[in-house]
Amino acid sequence: MKLLVLNEARHAIDDSFVEQRCAVTPATVMRFTRMGFTVMLEQDAGALSGYPDAAYTEQGATIVEANADVLGDADIVLYVNRPLSSQLAQLKANALVIGHIDPFFQQELVESMAGKGLSTLSVEMIPRSSRAQKMDALSSQASLAGYVMMMQAANALPSILPMMMTPSGTIKPAKVFIIGAGVAGLQAIATAKRLGANVLAYDTRPVVAEQVESLGGKFLKIDIGETGQTKDGYAKELTDEQKAKQQEAQRDAIADSDIVITTAQLFGRKPPVLISKQTLALMKPGSVVVDMAALSGGNVEGSVPGKTAVVEGVTVIGDGHWSQRVARDATDMYANNLINLIDEFFDKESKQFTLDLEDEILASSVITHAGEITNDMLKNAYK
Ligand code: NAD
Repeated sequence: MKLLVLNEARHAIDDSFVEQRCAVTPATVMRFTRMGFTVMLEQDAGALSGYPDAAYTEQGATIVEANADVLGDADIVLYVNRPLSSQLAQLKANALVIGHIDPFFQQELVESMAGKGLSTLSVEMIPRSSRAQKMDALSSQASLAGYVMMMQAANALPSILPMMMTPSGTIKPAKVFIIGAGVAGLQAIATAKRLGANVLAYDTRPVVAEQVESLGGKFLKIDIGETGQTKDGYAKELTDEQKAKQQEAQRDAIADSDIVITTAQLFGRKPPVLISKQTLALMKPGSVVVDMAALSGGNVEGSVPGKTAVVEGVTVIGDGHWSQRVARDATDMYANNLINLIDEFFDKESKQFTLDLEDEILASSVITHAGEITNDMLKNAYK
């Protein structure tokens, strides 16, 4: 089977950023070639994550041009992001495309992929089960995002985070408030604790209180009535009344914090707005807020997608694309997720990737196949 990896810095899905990550590392190329794959890489595909072409060719990859012949020859195309619509026409009708497809917000692209007969595996739709953990790209990238957001916040704050007792005076530890304690939030908490800050956190899923406390953070208890999570562990959307109660109850904690990081997301939907401009105005000037969701709608009123802005005297970081700030680790982890995924469904006898749609992992993550959109959640969302 022929496997193709493009240089996504050259084929940007939008003009606001240059992709730094790559879908394979030299180590995963070595495993792919041992499995019997022919691996083709566009020139400099891994350069921005620290892997020159030679590191890949040493492991058996071939460097190719991303032209119609090459795209039309690939059986599997691995993306970090998703294909450009201009590339769809060039791909082989029954090729398998794997990447962050962002399917809830890319209806037109997904419909074209189905129409073209492509099989599409969207890594965001991989279930959050124990068996799928090693393939879980959402988690691998979110862990890094939590770390990066905390480091960016610490960098932007005009104070230090740990307590410092010196003859010139005593500096109190900074106060950090994390809203949303999923994969990214927990990693942000752990990073803030390592830097010596006092950490408070809140999540609508009360089950995470214990995890926050085990990392040394305090959990803010807010009574907003029945909340809970879906069968897949995702937060349920709050009612308007609950949202108002949450904002009210968080106000004092936000006003008292030097750094606030919001990581609240709702799977397949726009993220909730959690911090209003009026609340930002209560913070000390120079305080820092990181809005993890800035690119997809924002948890913070006034945050600017892809940028850092000063809103009501507060530095609001909405840069997004967090994990690619640590592109080498992000590439290593994502590439491991993909090789684990392909290895799981690779038939060693026939040396083929078997698209077993009865398997629970593929049943949910393969979103187009044989000319159809195959995922019910998406079919409903597209109505
Ligand atoms: P996510 O990115 O969807 O959301 C981030 C966090 O924001 C979540 O903890 C969510 O509860 C919280 N949130 C949503 N609305 C909020 C609000 N209004 N206020 C405060 N917080 C709010 O979540 P995620 O990090 O992708 O994790 C999703 C689920 O998957 C979790 O239950 C997680 O434990 C689970 N998970 C399981 C596995 C596994 O078992 N293999 C791996 C990773 C994640």
